[in-house]
Amino acid sequence: ASRLISPDKRGEDVDATLRPQRLDDFVGQAAARANLKVFIEAAKARGEALDHVLFVGPPGLGKTTLAQIMAKELGVNFRSTSGPVIAKAGDLAALLTNLEERDVLFIDEIHRLSPAVEEILYPAMEDFQLDLIIGEGPAARSVKIDLSKFTLVAATTRLGLLTTPLRDRFGIPVRLNFYTVDELEQIVARGARLMSLPMSEDGAKEIARRARGTPRIAGRLLRRVRDFADVAGAAIVNRQVADAALSRLEVDSLGLDQLDRRYLELIALNFGGGPVGIETIAAALSEPRDAIEDIVEPYLLQQGFIQRTPRGRLLTQHAFRHMGFAVPATVQG
Ligand code: ADP
Repeated sequence: ASRLISPDKRGEDVDATLRPQRLDDFVGQAAARANLKVFIEAAKARGEALDHVLFVGPPGLGKTTLAQIMAKELGVNFRSTSGPVIAKAGDLAALLTNLEERDVLFIDEIHRLSPAVEEILYPAMEDFQLDLIIGEGPAARSVKIDLSKFTLVAATTRLGLLTTPLRDRFGIPVRLNFYTVDELEQIVARGARLMSLPMSEDGAKEIARRARGTPRIAGRLLRRVRDFADVAGAAIVNRQVADAALSRLEVDSLGLDQLDRRYLELIALNFGGGPVGIETIAAALSEPRDAIEDIVEPYLLQQGFIQRTPRGRLLTQHAFRHMGFAVPATVQG
């Protein structure tokens, strides 16, 4: 489904002009940033590879950006791939043998690595060695190849899908959280400056409020607002201009889009507020379960619209009110 606010990567994100290049340009995630700064400085001072880092959090919060920034701050090469792309153990072996000392290897969506590839990764992370089996049957033999001491930076939207042995091999786990409106306002204002787009403070705030706590969405809304402003000949993007553009894009006052609203409406009207199982929701919305769990639900949970219970998803009173529905007597808090 094509969603304006989908935090999924799309072509426009390849336009890297808005991507911060240095840790100091990176807005938000203050605790994670402060810790990373210390670890990077310490590794540099010792001339050693940084410990392996695992970023956990919903899509679009800056995991890839931080990985790139870390390579820059460390002054090493950045190599990038993703779990679903590494089909065979040999593909990963090829990547690993090409790394230089202290390089950063970024693996996005690491929860989607196949078990055979994960097997190769363990000794590589732990001992910087490749254990390969050459040949087949009785003639098969195992060879060990030494690797450069590298840093694996991995990202996942779903910590629960990682095997425990893999999870345990990361010395530096970092959880990224949704951004505050103030932080997103800074990101939007910076983006507008970089695009030479005149914008008032209340214009930036309006976009920030509706960006679902997610910088990738803030960037995308900013580009669409610019289009509307250009076509309307607006001299400056203020609150009215931003609001008019975002309303036409069907992004509501809290950043919920059509899919979010269909999700809430389904549980409210067809299931009396729940509880209802995720499989039922996915089938009724004709959306993959993964997309709903990765993209739709984290923000609705964080905003207090839904609760996850063992018996399924429950809508809160807040959700009924936001949608303009009467709150059934059975719905708590
Ligand atoms: P993830 O890897 O978590 O899905 P990305 O690192 O690809 O997210 O970031 C998505 C987009 O948001 C990028 O275009 C990036 O430039 C922007 N972005 C992310 N975090 C920040 C931030 N803290 N400040 C400014 N822009 C950001």
